[in-house]
Amino acid sequence: MSKRKLNADDIKQSVNPADFYRHELNVPLKKHGWQDGGLCPFHSDNKQGSFFVNLETGAYKCFACVANGGDIISFTMALHGLRFAEALAQLAHDWGI
Ligand SMILES: [Zn+2]
Repeated sequence: MSKRKLNADDIKQSVNPADFYRHELNVPLKKHGWQDGGLCPFHSDNKQGSFFVNLETGAYKCFACVANGGDIISFTMALHGLRFAEALAQLAHDWGI
């Protein structure tokens, strides 16, 4: 892990939301803007069509449960139950920042 103190801008400048969600969601995401993200990782989803991600901003929203957030940091916090600084550290580790 880097000794430099990370901030959210470091993460956002280094991790492309489209690359992030292709990796996290294991669905083909080819276009821009809001895309069907496949099965929602925040509830026991069994059919596609309720979970969407924004490939420019990293925002995500599920229309079947309460999951929503504005960027990949909040996604990481919610998915793994992390605090803000912990999510930054995990993203930095996962993406070699
Ligand atoms: Zn959901």
